[in-house]
Amino acid sequence: MQQPVITDKFGRVLQDLRISVTDRCNFRCRYCMPREIFGKDFAFLPKDHLLTFEEIERLANTFLNLGVKKIRLTGGEPLLRKDLAILIRKLASLDGLEDIGLTTNGVLLGKMAKTLKEAGLKRVNVSLDALDDKTFMEINDSKVPSHTVIQSIQQAKEAGLTIKVNMVVKKGMNDHEILKMANYFKKMDITLRFIEFMDVGQSNGWDFKHVVTKKEIHDMIAQEHDIEPVDPEYIGEVAKRYKYRGTDTEVGFITSVSESFCSSCTRARIAADGHFYTCLFAGTGFNLKELMRNGMTDKELKNTIINRWQNREDRYSDERTEETAKNRKKIEMSYIGG
Ligand code: SAM
Ligand code: SF4
Ligand code: SF4
Repeated sequence: MQQPVITDKFGRVLQDLRISVTDRCNFRCRYCMPREIFGKDFAFLPKDHLLTFEEIERLANTFLNLGVKKIRLTGGEPLLRKDLAILIRKLASLDGLEDIGLTTNGVLLGKMAKTLKEAGLKRVNVSLDALDDKTFMEINDSKVPSHTVIQSIQQAKEAGLTIKVNMVVKKGMNDHEILKMANYFKKMDITLRFIEFMDVGQSNGWDFKHVVTKKEIHDMIAQEHDIEPVDPEYIGEVAKRYKYRGTDTEVGFITSVSESFCSSCTRARIAADGHFYTCLFAGTGFNLKELMRNGMTDKELKNTIINRWQNREDRYSDERTEETAKNRKKIEMSYIGG
């Protein structure tokens, strides 16, 4: 069947879907869910506000019918969602899905990797911001050492999952770990991607001066390694890819601040409570859960999504200024799903 092509106001095709399955997390990364804000009294979503697996499946199916080919599950920490493998099995069997991935902090991944793979999961992005335990524990603020995550990465690899590691770099926080991380994952033949620290949400105290740019990180690595650019595999590929010359091992950069990529942004996002967002930096979403629970038909649901995408004009990173970074109302990353 010919897939429809739904485009927004700038001609960007609806192609990828990120689904957040929970707003809770077992880490309190200081740049994402600082404990002072996400403490004991923080009002996380009550269970009945979360999308059920049936609702997630219905939405995924609708998006696949609109031309989406790739789905990524995220959060919060997606592996905290009970019976996640059951959801993955349901999604993996949907017609039109070419790829299903998951982004996780890796704490629970080791023991779940085999089950997730058997359920149909293909790729996992594991976040790891430092190898040095003091630095890593200062960041995650949850007393989890880096070898817990490394062990999970090894187990996930053994289970046959394709792994990439993501490291958010913030000046003064973990920039001293850049080369160590590059060397370590080069040796393990795992793609490491450096993510520029972003001004998502309202609570991470972001400032331009905290950003370590792609160029700075690239130059640091290039002093020790011969790296060459790799062409993107498809339109809308977010990472700028490089490989270590003479090998197939890659290293990448996600340059949302220094080289924004809004013009090729093909991603839709569903938050854990069923709100639909067309940008990571959006202030408001559109409540699809309520519409589904109020008996909206499949056709109406489809038309609603088409309408939202066709009216999409988001290009926050292209337009970012000190003023928007500090004063614009934005939802939290742990809620919308990173
Ligand atoms: N808990 C999972 C994890 O950490 O992988 C999934 C959700 S987390 C929000 C997704 C990704 O967003 C992680 O790689 C995390 O490091 C990244 N992230 C969170 N806050 C960020 C920020 N302010 N700037 C850049 N990346 C950020
Ligand atoms: Fe949790 Fe991921 Fe945010 Fe860290 S980055 S607090 S692991 S959601
Ligand atoms: Fe896409 Fe919004 Fe990020 Fe631009 S700022 S790349 S539109 S999510």
